[in-house]
Amino acid sequence: HLEVRDLNKKFGSLQAVEGVSFSVEQGRLIGLLGPSGGGKTTLLRMLAGLERPDGGAISIGGRNVDALPPQDRGIGFVFQNYALFKHMTVVENIAFGLKVKKWERARIYQRVAELLALTGLIGLERRYPHQLSGGQRQRVAFARALAPEPQLLLLDEPFAAIDAKVRKELRTWLKEMISRVGVTSLFVTHDQEEAVEVADEILIMSQGRLEQKGTPWEIYRAPKTPFIATFIGEST
Ligand code: ATP
Repeated sequence: HLEVRDLNKKFGSLQAVEGVSFSVEQGRLIGLLGPSGGGKTTLLRMLAGLERPDGGAISIGGRNVDALPPQDRGIGFVFQNYALFKHMTVVENIAFGLKVKKWERARIYQRVAELLALTGLIGLERRYPHQLSGGQRQRVAFARALAPEPQLLLLDEPFAAIDAKVRKELRTWLKEMISRVGVTSLFVTHDQEEAVEVADEILIMSQGRLEQKGTPWEIYRAPKTPFIATFIGEST
């Protein structure tokens, strides 16, 4: 469960995020959509604790996290530019965060085995990132993010660098996996089609404000503004 109340963030005189409030039920996959510069990444960075809001409150899994550093917020992230550790194998990448958290060896071993099965990586345990395809690398990134059993998964354009065919396969895979794990997830994408296909609900952000929240069908059927109608209609 995620609850965001009246979040604000200014960079100098630029209001990057303005009065954003919403809540997401446990286990839902939310697509965050909007034009470049609309504030999506800034919102995600505030949720992750990487950017300090000027005002507002964030609660994750029923717990207020405003005063907590990123590593204590119960968040996993897969960012386009948040790469795997190059000198570590698949297994080492997945286990890394668990070692940092000082999990016991046996528990780490068991959790990594679960994740390898969940993300379809069995057989690739000893490979290094450069020996994997782009799609496989992103699946390792998901396994690594999910390893410590986060309450919230933040995804910033996770498939942007992957070619169209594999990207389609990954969308289906992602939707299935998230529903199996039941983790609340926020998925930023530029791609309207991708958002409509994977998300249970869509948030549309523009110029720092939350313009509309609803199921893909609700947004198509009743866009709140002409801007949203044009924006969501663009790629279809
Ligand atoms: P994109 O889809 O291009 O990633 P976005 O919707 O994620 O865009 P943000 O990256 O959150 O939008 O940016 C919102 C606004 O805040 C933009 O005008 C951006 O230039 C500005 N901005 C973001 N980070 C900073 C920063 N660290 N310093 C100054 N301005 C920033």
